[in-house]
Amino acid sequence: MDIKKVEPLEVYTRRRNFEKTTEPDPMRVKKMQKKPVFTVQEHHASHLHWDLRLEIDGVMPSWAIPKGPSTDPKIKRLAVQTEDHPIAYATFEGVIPEGEYGAGTVMVWDFGTYENIRIKDGISVPMDQCLKDGRIEIVLHGQKLRGVFVLIKTKINWLFFKKSDEYSSIEDITKTQTRSALTNRTIDEIARSHSDDTKKGQP
Ligand code: MN
Repeated sequence: MDIKKVEPLEVYTRRRNFEKTTEPDPMRVKKMQKKPVFTVQEHHASHLHWDLRLEIDGVMPSWAIPKGPSTDPKIKRLAVQTEDHPIAYATFEGVIPEGEYGAGTVMVWDFGTYENIRIKDGISVPMDQCLKDGRIEIVLHGQKLRGVFVLIKTKINWLFFKKSDEYSSIEDITKTQTRSALTNRTIDEIARSHSDDTKKGQP
């Protein structure tokens, strides 16, 4: 038996003639949709780490990378998956107060869009499937990270690494690039400018 796959918003679309109504046409909106975003936040919590977050289906699956990203294809970095974050978190920069979860200073170290380039049997694999498979292949269009990167799930954790291309480099990028992609501030400048916020409410 032929089982017809039901498209999301099928009923909505069937009831409307988008030549006549100015209501949103889901197909058109789909085409207009911007590329998904990614962020890498330098997080000076109890242990310094970098948080990689990728927009997938309206949320941001996240990984904590203790040593941060590397642009050297020979270096594979441990990435520990953490809880999904809302998309608005991608541009969060500031100080999480003492005693709160993840207390410490957060810098938007890199920000941009990405493209999913994973292909299996000649067909593009959707990002949610890549996540389930534990194999993500993306091109990053950030201010610092560019070109092809791979995230692969091992037995327990993930590995994040650069694939060789025109953007790969042996430069120790987390040490040489130390300013916010959003505000151009250093981590100390962010900590200082927000120190007044965290003192609010304290005796
Ligand atoms: Mn973190």
